[in-house]
Formats: sequence, structure tokens, C-alpha cells
Amino acid sequence: MLTLAALFLASQAASPAACAAQDRYAIIVHGGTARAGQVPEERLVFMRDALAGARDELEAGARALDVTETMIAAMEASGLFNAGRGSITNAEGYVENDASVMDGATMNAGAVASMTGLKSPIRAARIVMDETRHVMMVGERGQAAVIERGAEEAPSDWFLRAEHREPEEHGTVGAAVLDRCGDLAAGTSTGGYDAKIPGRVGDSPIIGAGTYAENGVVAASATGHGEYFVRFGATRDLAARMKYEDQSAEQAGQAVIDAMAEAGGERDGRGGIVAVDAQGNFAAPFSSEGMVRGYASDRQEPVAGAFDTVE
Ligand code: ASP
Repeated sequence: MLTLAALFLASQAASPAACAAQDRYAIIVHGGTARAGQVPEERLVFMRDALAGARDELEAGARALDVTETMIAAMEASGLFNAGRGSITNAEGYVENDASVMDGATMNAGAVASMTGLKSPIRAARIVMDETRHVMMVGERGQAAVIERGAEEAPSDWFLRAEHREPEEHGTVGAAVLDRCGDLAAGTSTGGYDAKIPGRVGDSPIIGAGTYAENGVVAASATGHGEYFVRFGATRDLAARMKYEDQSAEQAGQAVIDAMAEAGGERDGRGGIVAVDAQGNFAAPFSSEGMVRGYASDRQEPVAGAFDTVE
């Protein structure tokens, strides 16, 4: 399982024109919100290993957009998270995936929602971005359209948690990346929220809610109670605070997270955001008990953690 991440990353050659404009690069990822006693160590081990592969790719000049997609695809395929292969099921016992990706260099984006049979929703989101005039494809017809354009169908035994109902199990995945071109990109992929009603779409495939990237400002991916992240336009609000109010990623992220937690009261509106700014500074505020997260950069060896500390 562990070498899977390394293999996955190694198989993705950097884009033809490798980035070398700057030495600085940075990647931050999340594996969803965490509750005490509920974070398998293997998620953190996987994350550190995958970050090491991503770091090598970025050092060699890989594009932020490619690394975002590859990193998330590896987490989806690992079966360890609530995304891709390890997705939790909806209230009727089947998987519905949401995912999105955004390129901060071009402000292009792609997303899929309510996908029931894709091997890699994040790759499908990239296909929407690259191969169509649209930003988001949904449901059965959206799924047929992305398969027609190259998205891989999930084999019948693909989903590991099919038929298992886990009332509260999180583990959405996301990545935010700065590359050596100075470009930013972000993406998010999920099986959704606890026992969701079939057809429900959360924040993860919504640009400006679960995912946002804008060169010169920030790349960000969210996890948590999606309805709040949609209502508050969470990642776009974070970017706006940085862009118009000159707030740091840390300040802006905390403000967005606090506003949703306050609105949600005791139980609702909880979650977190991982972000990286144009200078490679990280932020990872959360209002949930924990958030599985990790990061690495040209100056930072891969570290990961779920609660107060990362190591
Ligand atoms: N934000 C995701 C959703 O609402 C779930 C999560 O991050 O745990 O679909």
C-alpha cells in the first residue's frame, strides 16, 4: 500500500516544460476532519510517503496542477480515505463521488458531482476542465460524458466500503500546491458527508467553496460540513480576504473557519481548510477536533498529523 503512492507519483512525469523560474515550491494536503481515536496511523504514514514523492516531482519542475491531480488520485486509490476507492456510501448504501480541481495560472477549473462508478473522480474533474467547455458535470449523464472522454470506469469490486454504513466517518482528501513556475493549483475529492441523501452535492466540487486557486493569492482545499462551506463560499472568501484585505493565509483561513463555526453553533459548521500562498506559506486552520493534514516544501521535509502537532 505504501509504495503505491510513490509508484503513482513516479509514473506521472513532469509536464514537458519543467518549471524552474524559482526555487520555492510547496504542497499541503488534507485527509479530512478527524475525531479523537478515529485516525488510523496508516493515513499519516501514507501521507508522508506521498508527500515525499510529490516533493521530488516539484523539485524536478512538475506543474502544480499535475501534482495536485496525482496526489489526490493516489489518495483516492489508496482506499484509506473517504474518497475514490475508500468512499463512504450514501443513505441508500452506494457511493456518490464529488471532486474538483482548479488551475490558479489560468483560472480554469473542472468538477464532477454525484458520480457513482468512476475509478478516479479527480481525474474526471481534470477531464472536464481539459476536454470540455464546461466546469461541472453531474449525475448519470455527466458520468457518461466523462467516460466518453477518457475517465476510467470503476470495476464492480472497486469500492471497499460499499454496503457498509458508517454513520460518522470522514476523510475527504485535498491538495494545494505552489510549483517552481510560481503557479498555484488546488483540488478536492470526497465520498461526501455522513449518510447523505442520494443526489446531495457538498462543497468539494464547488469552485470557491471546497476548492479555489488563484495565482499570486492562494490555493486552498476544504473539508468538513459541506453545507456551510457552500453557503459561506469558504475558499473564495479566504482568497478575497487575502487579496482585498491583505490578510495572511493564516488570518484569512482562521476568520473563515471561525465564522462558519460560530454560525453552526455547538455541532454544525465544523471543518478545516489547507492553504498555500504565492510565497509558499502554509495555513491549516480547523474547528473540528482534528484535521488529517501534511505538508512539504523546498525547505520542509514531509510532516503529517491529525491534531495539534504535525511530525
Ligand atoms: N466536505 C465534504 C462534504 O460535505 C465532507 C468532508 O469533508 O468530510 O461533502
